[in-house]
Amino acid sequence: MTEEDKNKIRAYSKKTPKYLSRRKFNEEGALVEVQCSHCKKFKSISEFSKNKTQTDGLETKCKVCKQAK
Ligand SMILES: [Zn+2]
Repeated sequence: MTEEDKNKIRAYSKKTPKYLSRRKFNEEGALVEVQCSHCKKFKSISEFSKNKTQTDGLETKCKVCKQAK
């Protein structure tokens, strides 16, 4: 991870302190995986439905948990 990426994430984490602990980024600083708030597993962002009210535009629960209810 480059210094630039670290700065990017550092800037973001100031805005939303809990954000980083639930997310994984690639070396470009792009979001690749999110931790489901229900099953606590890290899954690809394609495993989450979209939700415009959330910070990154994704649901906090994965599709599987969302369906299981
Ligand atoms: Zn889940």
